[in-house]
Order: sequence, then structure tokens, then C-alpha cells
Amino acid sequence: MLTDAPEVDARVTETPSAPASAPASAAAPAAARGAIELRGVTKRYGDECVVDRLALSIAPGEFFSLLGPSGSGKTTTLMMLAGFTPADAGEIRIDGQDVARIPPKRRGLGMVFQNYAVFPHMSVFDNIAFPLRARGLPRDRVRAEVERALALVQLERHADKFSRQLSGGQQQRVAIARAIVYSPPVVLMDEPLGALDKNLRYDMQAEIREIQRRLGMTVVYVTHDQEEALNMSDRIAILDRGRIAQLGQPVEVYERPSSGFVAQFLGEANLIEGRVTAREGERARFESASGLQVMVPAALEWTAGREALLFVRPEKLVLCHDDEALLHARVQRRSFLGGVLRCRLHCASRGGSGPELVVDVPNAAHALRPQVGEAVGVRWREADLSLLPASS
Ligand code: ADP
Repeated sequence: MLTDAPEVDARVTETPSAPASAPASAAAPAAARGAIELRGVTKRYGDECVVDRLALSIAPGEFFSLLGPSGSGKTTTLMMLAGFTPADAGEIRIDGQDVARIPPKRRGLGMVFQNYAVFPHMSVFDNIAFPLRARGLPRDRVRAEVERALALVQLERHADKFSRQLSGGQQQRVAIARAIVYSPPVVLMDEPLGALDKNLRYDMQAEIREIQRRLGMTVVYVTHDQEEALNMSDRIAILDRGRIAQLGQPVEVYERPSSGFVAQFLGEANLIEGRVTAREGERARFESASGLQVMVPAALEWTAGREALLFVRPEKLVLCHDDEALLHARVQRRSFLGGVLRCRLHCASRGGSGPELVVDVPNAAHALRPQVGEAVGVRWREADLSLLPASS
């Protein structure tokens, strides 16, 4: 959406609380600025409520990701934070200040978008210097700040090149340097690595994280790539149709999703329909429609008779020999994914035909690597199972 580079850069200016002549040094941490508070933030387009009473607190220096499928309201949320899209209801506060009446260019936020948005007719140096010159900084100060930013993104040797002489990853680093050169306390990033190939994306994830930590800035990061969000974030909000489906640290949302939607969005998930048939202390006995019976750690709300989804990640299931097996199955399909073999199993259960399970077998010397049609045992740690609300 932001192809017009000068327009983008006009948006990346002015920090309201800092006088134009004295921005913080690019190398200095942004102290404890950069707190963001959203209360009841809502946006409608026609009949569609695309952001629905969003409430969020983001701490200074936090790397916070908005993750969700296409159309879940991530970009709209970011655009309301930036000030390009007005909210229909609710309140957005940055460092305690209600920003409803503050135009984008005075919100003091750095921005990085997917399509680089660097000026093609300017050198790397001039691109990065642009926001500083726009504020009237003296020449020696501009040079010092740009050199510091160039070092941060490791482009010192490319300062005199034009963007067309740079690779995609290098162009994106220029965009990042330009967004951080005046040390904004908050940087908004919308799928900034979306156009890069996988290896480069992985390297850039580490670089962005490193820069963010070093400068102590708050980053609000939009992505639909769950691995990217898990790898980079302090916390993640998973959005579903404009609402937060779950908010938490990466390990928490991956290992303990609150719903089948979150479980499936964050990776491969076995979700088996059934019900609780009994309770024993801190555990519940779960029985699937196909007759599979297992014990699952479960809070007291999981009372006998309640419908549930049994959840377990494919990598938590282990293929084993018969004597260790908790369940017997046959391999129906096998997909070679490089690091893992993804096996689809048909399980036997007391009633005869049991549920299907996906098991990720590490492509490692010690692991059993079964053939299609082969009978296998499956085992797991009880702690890796959990119950989720039955889908409505
Ligand atoms: P995401 O970033 O999660 O992919 P968006 O925030 O871009 O989602 O969009 C959320 C929903 O709002 C989508 O259904 C989209 O079509 C709709 N939408 C976004 N911008 C506009 C607009 N300017 N006019 C009408 N509908 C819009």
C-alpha cells in the first residue's frame, strides 16, 4: 500500500516530546519511553467490525507481535496506532498521552513496511539522513547519527550506493536504519520481511531483534508468519476477526493454546473430538468419539460429561516399539520435510478403528523411521496433552 516513498518518509518525522534540534542519540537507549495502551479500540468498515474493542498494554522496550490470518485486523490496528486510520471508538495512549488528535507525523513513531520504501534516487547515506535533515540537524550531527545507524544495520561499506545497487535484504536494512536513526521510542513494522527469501528472513529476524534490544525501543510487529512471531517476540497477540484470541509469551501460546483456532494457527496440531468421562484428582479421563481413552492433566472445570478437544503437538508424540506403546497404529502416509518426517497414523482403539494422529519424527540417527503400512507404537508424556474447548 505504501509505494510512495516521500509520502512514507513524511510520516516518519517529528517526535512530539523531543525538540527537533535535539533528538536522542541513535546509540542511546530510548529510556523508559514507548509504553502503548489500547482501550476498547474499534474499527468498522460498513457492517464489518474489523477491530473489535481491542484492549492491550505494551511495555516500554517490548517486542510485541500482532499475529493472525489475513483479514484479522492486524494492519488496521497498526494504522490506528500510527494515526493513518482513525478509530471509531476507544482510546490509544502512547506514554500516557491520548493520541486521537495527534497527526501521524507528530506521533514520533518509526515505521518499516514490507516494500522497503527507500528513495531510489538517493544514496544509502542520504536515505538515512533524510529524517535528520528534515529536522534541521547540523551537518556534523547528521553524519555522526547516520554513521551510527549504518553500523547498527551493518551497511557501513555501502553508504554511497543507490538502492538499485542493493539486495532486498540490504534495502530493508536501509529502511530500518531510516526508521531508527532518530531513536523513536516506538517502531511499527508491517510484514517487513515478507518479500525476502527464507534464509535472509531468518538472518534479518535476528538482526532486527538485536537492534531493538540494543536501543531499547518498543516494537509493534505485524506478521502472519507464526514462526517469525514465535522467534522474535516477547509477547504475541493472536488475532481472529478483530479480537484477541490469545495473548502471551511465545512458549505459552504455542504449548498452551486456549482454543483449537490458536492451536492450529501456531503450527501442526492434533485435535481430537470427544468428552470427559471421569475425573481423578488433577486429571481427567478423555474418550474420543472413536473410542480412544487417555488421561489428561485438566483443571476442575473439565467435569465429567463435558465435550472437549484433546490437543497434542505432533512433535510431542514418539514412535516406539510395542512394549513401550500407549497406543498402536499403522502408518498411512509419510511426508519428508527435511528435518522431520511427518507421519499420518491410523490408530487402533478399543472400539476398533481409532482416530488419526500426525506424528513428527525427527530425521535423526536415533529415531525410528517407519514405512507406509508399517505397524508402530506411539507414546507420549501425559503433561504434553491438554484439553481445549470443543469447537462451537
Ligand atoms: P490483516 O492485516 O490482518 O490482513 P486488515 O487489517 O488489513 O487485516 O483488514 C481487516 C479487514 O478490514 C479485512 O476484511 C479488510 O478487507 C478490511 N479493510 C481494511 N481496510 C479497509 C478499507 N479501507 N475499506 C474497507 N475495508 C477494509
